[in-house]
Amino acid sequence: MSETVIPESRTYRHLKCKTETTISGQPFEVMSNPLSDMASTWCSQCEGQFPLSEYEWADTNEKVLDYYARYSANASELQRFLCSRKCMLILAAFGFVLGAIGGWFLFRGDAMWLKVGMPIVCGGFGAFGGLAIYISALCGPITRKVCGVEDTRTLT
Ligand SMILES: [Zn+2]
Repeated sequence: MSETVIPESRTYRHLKCKTETTISGQPFEVMSNPLSDMASTWCSQCEGQFPLSEYEWADTNEKVLDYYARYSANASELQRFLCSRKCMLILAAFGFVLGAIGGWFLFRGDAMWLKVGMPIVCGGFGAFGGLAIYISALCGPITRKVCGVEDTRTLT
C-alpha cells in the first residue's frame, strides 16, 4: 500500500493559555481544510470557543491562520466562496425550494395532506441533494485542486 496515511487527529495550542487540545473526526476534517470558513475552535483549558487567530498547531508551531493562508494562497475569490458555508446553505436552500416545487407539482391533484406534506418531504430530499452537490462537485474538487491533496488532514 503506497497510499498516504491520513492522520486521525491533530493537536493545536491556544496561544493565551498555552494549553494543547487535540481535535479529531469530522471537526478535524473541517479545521484542517484551509478553505473552510471555520471561525473558532474549542480550548479544553479555557472551556470555550475562541477565534482561530488565537491558535497555532502544536507540531509545527505555525499559527492556524498562517497555515490557512499558505495553503489557500492559490484560491480565487470564487473558489473560496464556493467552498464556504454560505454557499453550502444557499445550495441546500435552493435544493429545498426546487424539491418543494417538484413535490407540489407531483401531488397537486392529490389529497390535502399529500399536497401539503409531500412538498416538504421532497424539499428535504432537495436540500440533501444540494448538500451532496456541494460536497462532491464543489468543496471536494476545489479543495483538492487548491491544496493539491486528496485529504486536507494530510497537510501540515
Ligand atoms: Zn485556552
